[in-house]
Amino acid sequence: MHASLAARTFWFSFLPACLALGSSFFAFHGALRNNIKKGVRESLHRSEGLLDEARAEYNRRARQLTSLLTESAGLKAAVGLLQEAGQDPESRSQVRRTIEMQLGEIHDLVGHDFLAVSDLQGRTVAALHVPTESLPNLPAGPSLLQLGGVLYEVETLPISLGGEQIASLTVGKAFDINLLHSVGEVALVSGHKVLTTTLPRLLVEGAEQQLETKCGGSGGECDIELNGENYLVLPVQMANLDARYRLLCFRSLDQAAGEFSAGFFPMFVKIGALGVLMALLFTLFTSRSVSRPLRDFIAQLRQSERTGQLPVHLSIKSPVREVNLLADTFNRAAGSVRRSAEELLKAKAAAEAANRAKGEFLANMSHEIRTPMNGVIGMTGLLLDTDLDGEQRDYAGTVHQSASSLLTILNDILDFSKMEAGQVAIESKPCDLRATVDEVMEMMAAEARCKGIELSLRYAPGTPRRLTGDQGRIRQVFANLVGNAVKFTHKGYVRASVELAEQSGRIRVAVEDTGIGIPGEKLDSIFERFTQADNSTTRSYGGTGLGLAIAKQLVKLMGGEIGVKSLPGEGSTFWFTLPLLLDAQPAAVAESRYA
Ligand code: ADP
Repeated sequence: MHASLAARTFWFSFLPACLALGSSFFAFHGALRNNIKKGVRESLHRSEGLLDEARAEYNRRARQLTSLLTESAGLKAAVGLLQEAGQDPESRSQVRRTIEMQLGEIHDLVGHDFLAVSDLQGRTVAALHVPTESLPNLPAGPSLLQLGGVLYEVETLPISLGGEQIASLTVGKAFDINLLHSVGEVALVSGHKVLTTTLPRLLVEGAEQQLETKCGGSGGECDIELNGENYLVLPVQMANLDARYRLLCFRSLDQAAGEFSAGFFPMFVKIGALGVLMALLFTLFTSRSVSRPLRDFIAQLRQSERTGQLPVHLSIKSPVREVNLLADTFNRAAGSVRRSAEELLKAKAAAEAANRAKGEFLANMSHEIRTPMNGVIGMTGLLLDTDLDGEQRDYAGTVHQSASSLLTILNDILDFSKMEAGQVAIESKPCDLRATVDEVMEMMAAEARCKGIELSLRYAPGTPRRLTGDQGRIRQVFANLVGNAVKFTHKGYVRASVELAEQSGRIRVAVEDTGIGIPGEKLDSIFERFTQADNSTTRSYGGTGLGLAIAKQLVKLMGGEIGVKSLPGEGSTFWFTLPLLLDAQPAAVAESRYA
């Protein structure tokens, strides 16, 4: 398939450039995204660390505040009353109310969800807003506690009097995961089970599975994938968590990277579009810088093709070295072709002049020889009419015969020379075609009879007898064909026919024989001058090889065509056509035998 230069440059240059640009864009984007993720991961670490520190500080201060509560004089006095009350239920319930009053004041002050005082045996003595009957025995310090289906952050602190612990104060606050929901999502987990989380409910099951498979129980950080997004899972420090619980923070790396790279995306698109545009411009420029001078080149060649002259000098001004080289090489080659064409023309003119001189010489010579030859023929004719003895008649007869043959050859040469010089004129006069062909047939009859071959003519019904044309030339052509047919036939027949070809409206003259025939490869060349089908023909049959060449020229000049059909060993049919120029009278049906 041939494609234009522009199309090839597009497919093999611009398109690959775009593909390279596109793939480097995606590769760069991927690398940038990975780097962003790395950066985000580090900054998350840092920010989580800072948050942990802030939370630890907050917890420390909160505990200080809570421990200050145990120093409340009212509470201490109320708890002190408990020891005095002993086991008397009445007094104990009075003391409990007093303690609860104190707890109420503390509650108004600090706003915990529940407050309770336990004795040294761990029994709850008084409580405010406690969701159950009695609290379990809690160790000192912060912890998580599940009460009535609600998770509480609790802290148990000793209440001392005179340097000796007399009871414990427990304060509890409902654990609200949403308070920890600052930057990412958070989840409180026990083992791999999520107890409470800010993650959407749909993601919880997946998170639990991956916490088990990817994060194990190490408690360290890990990566998981939720809903096609990458999350970094970081443990969050919390003072009141015992070993059963872990608080995990889930930070989406993709979201962060996406947000970050979203800022770059329009810039990437602009750079990409600019790259494509530049590639297109470069491709166009490159292909034009080659194709434009080439188009000029072709235009100049086409122009010279129209005028049939090689361009004198192709002027191409191209920035591409190869194109200039091509033009230079062409100019040099055209120069040498022009020089050889000039030389050829000169040689042709010289050859034509020599040929003309040769033709003229031949014509002159033939003419010059013809005159004495006519004298020889005339005189030997007269001699043969005199009284001669047998031997003398024989010799005179041979001289007469040879001179006649020589004259035929001379006539052929003269004819041909005239034709080459364009000096043959075709007459256009009324002529009797029937009489002409009869004449030829009769002339050949003796030779045919001598060779024992049948010689006949069929003048087809409806064929005009009289035409306008050159009788002498028609006779000459017909005589040549019949003469050849008789010459090259040893047995069988020579049948001539004259008919009106209905389709072309021409007269068709054919001569069919059962002679030696002509090989297929020679059929065309026998119409060329000095050509014989077989090189031994002259030896066996005589002749110059000019007869058919002359016949062809004559038929052409008369506006007809000539041809042959032949099979070696079987015979030949030579034919020619003549335009029907009317002086026409239809001939009667006639078939004549001459030999
Ligand atoms: P020539 O003077 O040799 O006959 P022509 O031009 O008339 O020259 O014929 C050219 C050649 O064509 C002959 O030499 C012969 O080989 C071949 N040829 C012409 N007519 C016939 C025919 N009827 N049968 C076989 N060969 C023929």
